[in-house]
Amino acid sequence: MAYLQKLTGAQPIKLRDFDPEFDAGLNKQQGEEKLQKLSAELTRLQELLYAAGQHSVLIVLQGRDTSGKDGTIRSVMGPLNSLGCQVASFKVPTEKEQAHDFLWRIHQQTPGKGEITIFNRSHYEDVLVVRVHKLAPDKVWRSRYVHINDFEKLLAESNTIILKFYLHISKDEQEKRLLERAEDPEKYWKLSAGDWKEREHWNDYTRAYEDAMNQCSTPHAPWYVVPANKKWFRNLAVAEAVVKSLQPYERQWRRQLEKIGLKEKAAIEAYRQNQT
Ligand code: ADP
Repeated sequence: MAYLQKLTGAQPIKLRDFDPEFDAGLNKQQGEEKLQKLSAELTRLQELLYAAGQHSVLIVLQGRDTSGKDGTIRSVMGPLNSLGCQVASFKVPTEKEQAHDFLWRIHQQTPGKGEITIFNRSHYEDVLVVRVHKLAPDKVWRSRYVHINDFEKLLAESNTIILKFYLHISKDEQEKRLLERAEDPEKYWKLSAGDWKEREHWNDYTRAYEDAMNQCSTPHAPWYVVPANKKWFRNLAVAEAVVKSLQPYERQWRRQLEKIGLKEKAAIEAYRQNQT
């Protein structure tokens, strides 16, 4: 049984039905051991993905402040070969970005063949923060679900494997993490009064996330709700979902590698025969 349910749009979800404390009955040590094995498997699969050069992998990370986007990237993607793996972070759009459609800056960062790209925030901000803070008229952000679905379909049809994760923490856990930041000088750099203010909009964000997931979950670009109160479980669950999504391609990538190998061998042989 997988740790996470893959949302493909068949049934609408409510976030209250997902327990942020969920840990599948594991303890931290068991979780970390399992993560180590999954990391090794992911590294192996990344090498095949890269060498075969047939698919791209796009991982979208979304979540409220302190939900652990950075920590997830460090833990799950840290062991990967940086040659074929990059992170794209999306912040408040610049003037130039705002002068374009909302997907313009996103499309420039999508992964090429053989690559894995992690979006730290994404095009979903344009139906989340933009909606909650009324940065665009209702009509504008509402029309974006369709654009997002069309965009993700285009990526999927261009051989992009897409996974989207919502890191699900409770309001109490967020308060605990914000208070910890204020006590630890090494975390001072993360302090932001804005994070405390955003908490006033907790329920608005819940609705915005639920709508985004219900409108934009498809079999080719599924959402996963990741219980994220326990950091070790969050890392384990994300790693497992990524590994499970890549495994079905292994045979195809191996076939492709064999083809590449045979072609090169023939070329070398022809070259050597010409030499004699
Ligand atoms: P993070 O919180 O991801 O570590 P920052 O503290 O720099 O990084 O926050 C980035 C900010 O940019 C967030 O408040 C986010 O809501 C905002 N943002 C991202 N995309 C958009 C967008 N399209 N429109 C408005 N704000 C955005």
